[in-house]
Amino acid sequence: MNHEKYILITVDVEDWFQVENFKRWIPYSSWTSYALRVERNTSKLLDFFDSFNTQKGGREKSVKATFFILGWLAERLPGLTREIAERGHEIASHGYGHELCTKLTRERLAQDLIRSKKLIEDISGVEISGYRAPSFAIDNSILEKIRESGYLYDSSYNSFALHGRYGRLKNTDRIKKNGVALEIADGFYEIPISNIKIGGHTLPWGGGGYFRMIPLWCFKIGMKLILRAEGAYMFYMHPWEIDPDQPRMNQAAPFFRFRHYINLDKTAEKLFRMIDSSTGARFVTCRKYLEYAGAVT
Ligand SMILES: [Zn+2]
Repeated sequence: MNHEKYILITVDVEDWFQVENFKRWIPYSSWTSYALRVERNTSKLLDFFDSFNTQKGGREKSVKATFFILGWLAERLPGLTREIAERGHEIASHGYGHELCTKLTRERLAQDLIRSKKLIEDISGVEISGYRAPSFAIDNSILEKIRESGYLYDSSYNSFALHGRYGRLKNTDRIKKNGVALEIADGFYEIPISNIKIGGHTLPWGGGGYFRMIPLWCFKIGMKLILRAEGAYMFYMHPWEIDPDQPRMNQAAPFFRFRHYINLDKTAEKLFRMIDSSTGARFVTCRKYLEYAGAVT
């Protein structure tokens, strides 16, 4: 492993009405009754990443990200799916219909993993290497199914233990690492979400609502600590997080509403400043990172 620093920006491509916290009020069967906002929001992100791909103040910055897209959306937005790949980003799978892996039978899980991979490959024309589980809900046996379904890597492990749905993995400290990537089995990797470890505690620092809540100056200190310790930082977000005009779900519990809606109007600008001020790190896709880390060629 070289001494470069890497920032892995990942986008879970799903719309505001597909999130787990709203499932009680917006079941899968009603998805077709909502107008899609994700296409416009994802296009905004693509333009936004491209805006760094030109010379800026004498230094060049190339921002390539990984987009984990729902099969359900790829089917409805084939143009967007292709465009993500054509603009130099990596396209990966977030499953078909955002069902928690932990709630599916092994058989249904395997179907979902294989179906979403094949669907996105057929639409985009590129091979899919990566998978991210809805709500980061994985465990060792789910990882085994992901590997069996033909993926090169998973990026769903979040070590922050206080969130009820996040998955658990056994003995992660004993697994061989390439950079931050854990070699779960021969030729199959887990690229975990970045968190900060301080005095035996784990603080969630990977993005999402935490990125929207924590002031940028403070967030950046954490990113620097992670980059210094690990050499790579894994960040995740959703297109709806830059969409302050999305419809409001007033039925949801106050805590879910707070988490979902806080600072939506400030996130695009904050993301811009986060990327712009991150000097000395390369913004690469997950697949490329595995190459740089020496895991794959
Ligand atoms: Zn998701």
